[in-house]
Amino acid sequence: MDKQYIKKLAEDPRFIPGIYNYCDRWRERCPLTCRCMNFALGEEQFGDPEARDINNKAFWQKLSETFQVTLEMVKEAAKEQGIDLDSVDLQQAGQEHEAARDAAEDHECCRAAEAYAQIARNWFKSAKDLFEQKADELNLQAQVEIGDSNPAEEAASLKDSVDVIRWYQHFIYVKLVRAITGCLEETPQSLNGFPKDSDGSAKIALIAIDRSIAAWGQMRQHLPQREDNILDILVHLDRLRRKTETVFPNAKAFVRPGFDYAEL
Ligand code: SF4
Repeated sequence: MDKQYIKKLAEDPRFIPGIYNYCDRWRERCPLTCRCMNFALGEEQFGDPEARDINNKAFWQKLSETFQVTLEMVKEAAKEQGIDLDSVDLQQAGQEHEAARDAAEDHECCRAAEAYAQIARNWFKSAKDLFEQKADELNLQAQVEIGDSNPAEEAASLKDSVDVIRWYQHFIYVKLVRAITGCLEETPQSLNGFPKDSDGSAKIALIAIDRSIAAWGQMRQHLPQREDNILDILVHLDRLRRKTETVFPNAKAFVRPGFDYAEL
């Protein structure tokens, strides 16, 4: 793989530019992998089982090659756009970014998202026995075929709920920190007429919250013994959702390449 190859790939009309900027990175559940250059590159490089093995020397070698190629492309793009990479005051830029990030981490949305991740972690820890009981119960049902119950379907639905909650548990916080940091850093000059990255990050955080709410709703049906606990979590998430919508009133209107317009 070299930079010419990546450039050629980027020109391929199959791929939607920037699609990977506002997705949830859940490639196993992504409906647009065939439109994503990031996915294609990953498959190209790490598709065979050996290369997937992070202990494999080839994996790190390939990653190192990607790093070199990427660096070359950054230098080339900077030159084309008249950006002098050496002239950037890294220390000042870094300090400003750190300050914005610290402020973002302290924002009530981010604190609520961080608290949610902790609440979810504790909940799963406390529900460990209950999950084991539920697995036994479903196994038993599968053996004796009780009435019109469908234990395989229930088990799959329960697993889906767990997968969704787990996937977004920390993702919401990460995206909200990015959104708030962006909000603090964006200026009309830096945006130059482009849509706000902060709105895009807030939008995917909101989608993650909505999906988590739906997954907890399913969990509530599967584990009615924990209904009260789950209701508390749902209330927490709903408040976070509403607060995020207030802070980012334009987030929902942000158009994510590929996902928010019909180019399927
Ligand atoms: S668009 Fe889909 S395949 Fe591409 S990075 Fe996002 S989740 Fe992965």
